[in-house]
Amino acid sequence: MIHLPHDDNTCGWYNALPKQPKQALLTGAQKADYVVLGAGFAGLAMARRLAEHAPNARIALIDAQRIGQGASGRNSGFVIDLPHKFSLEHPDPAHKQRLLSLNRFAIDQLASLVAKYNIDCQWSAAGKYQGAVGARGEAYLDHFEHLMTDLGEPFEHVTGTDLAKVLGTNYYSRAIYTPGGYLVQPAALACGLGANLPKNIEVFEHSPIVRLEKEQGGWLLQGEHGSIKTPQLLLGTSIFTREFGFLKNRLLPVMTFASWTRPLNDKEMQQYTGLLDWGLTPADHAGTTLRMTADRRIIIRNTYQHVAKYGNSISDKLRQEIQNDHRKVFLARYPQLVDVPFTHSWGGTYAISRNFTNFFGQLDDGVFASACDNGVGVAWGTVSGTLLADYVMGATSQSLDDIQQVTGMPSLNPPEPLLGLGVKSRIKLAKWQSRSEI
Ligand SMILES: Cc1cc2nc3c(=O)[nH]c(=O)nc-3n(C[C@H](O)[C@H](O)[C@H](O)COP(=O)(O)OP(=O)(O)OC[C@H]3O[C@@H](n4cnc5c(N)ncnc54)[C@H](O)[C@@H]3O)c2cc1C
Repeated sequence: MIHLPHDDNTCGWYNALPKQPKQALLTGAQKADYVVLGAGFAGLAMARRLAEHAPNARIALIDAQRIGQGASGRNSGFVIDLPHKFSLEHPDPAHKQRLLSLNRFAIDQLASLVAKYNIDCQWSAAGKYQGAVGARGEAYLDHFEHLMTDLGEPFEHVTGTDLAKVLGTNYYSRAIYTPGGYLVQPAALACGLGANLPKNIEVFEHSPIVRLEKEQGGWLLQGEHGSIKTPQLLLGTSIFTREFGFLKNRLLPVMTFASWTRPLNDKEMQQYTGLLDWGLTPADHAGTTLRMTADRRIIIRNTYQHVAKYGNSISDKLRQEIQNDHRKVFLARYPQLVDVPFTHSWGGTYAISRNFTNFFGQLDDGVFASACDNGVGVAWGTVSGTLLADYVMGATSQSLDDIQQVTGMPSLNPPEPLLGLGVKSRIKLAKWQSRSEI
């Protein structure tokens, strides 16, 4: 028995899309030159790059769900250039510069695909605010400012009425704005990329792979209604990579949650008073992510949970509890919008590792993976997926060197239940310490 992904169908981003075209299922006994498993940003990028290298090969891209229904379609839509806090604190300045240039590689690639295929996904060079509520958050901002200065990266302080004019709230004491990040409607981007793949990629959705067997001449992937054999398998399955026996005790499943409002009407926009199309991440990473979309919806994201039984959708009761918490956070910022309801609340799972290291490379004969994005997988999935295909094809480049320098082996986890208890108490402690910033 393996855990399969069963994301809930309450994700606002996916529900806001027009009806998606009919999908193909994996049926019969098939063969492909390459199989990419998992059609999130990592798998989409792997398949596209493989096809660019091998336009005559048969490439199958398989997902247990529809494209856009997994974590790639349910995140907060920040396509970050600046790496995560922990990576920013890496002692080697060259390591940070490599991460920056890899993220920028991803941004350039996504920007050119969005333009080339005219993908309607609210792609926006909006930059990013990092916001503090009180003294604890401000101390983090001071630290962040030093890191930006050391990196030679541009930033601006935004305070007082200038900040309130953007955000439509006085809740934040100050923020640092960095211009290089992008915002996107993530489900629209994932579906748009999926709809515009090279012709030699066949996409199979709603086609969970339930068993993987090594056979002479390659790997047999057994689905519920059919199978496919391939000599070369690329895994873009994030936390589910563990289910096939790889990186088994090294990836940690974490869930986080979001809620959004319906689009504000003209009267509510006047009460709101802020701008459209911005995103704010918390100065203290355990705080709240806030976005106002280009189409007038406010999004709240916070709360982390270690989910040993990942893959399952959360219960309605838990969803309601999380929505109630999100509501408090929303009203603390926007009491004037008390009559604006949340229409959707959803959760999503991604993989982190204890040493904050991403895996990139070969796992077995003919099996390759990029796994463990540590929660910033829009850019990372895209660049690591692209470069993994280069690696499989034997290509060389500075970016491929860079990614090999900054990735490694996620560290081993202690066994359950010790692991669960440890992660739960760390998350609880971080939540308590950050309570003034949530
Ligand atoms: C609420 C939330 C907010 C977030 N905000 C951001 C953000 O703003 N910016 C950012 O960069 N990141 C964010 N993240 C993290 C980001 O969503 C992930 O890092 C990213 O989606 C990882 O992409 P991926 O392609 O590696 O994996 P996934 O998107 O998880 O794709 C893996 C795919 O594999 C498929 N799969 C798994 N097992 C099987 C199987 N047995 N058979 C067939 N298919 C299978 C799944 O269905 C899934 O589609 C957020 C995550 C959440 C949940």
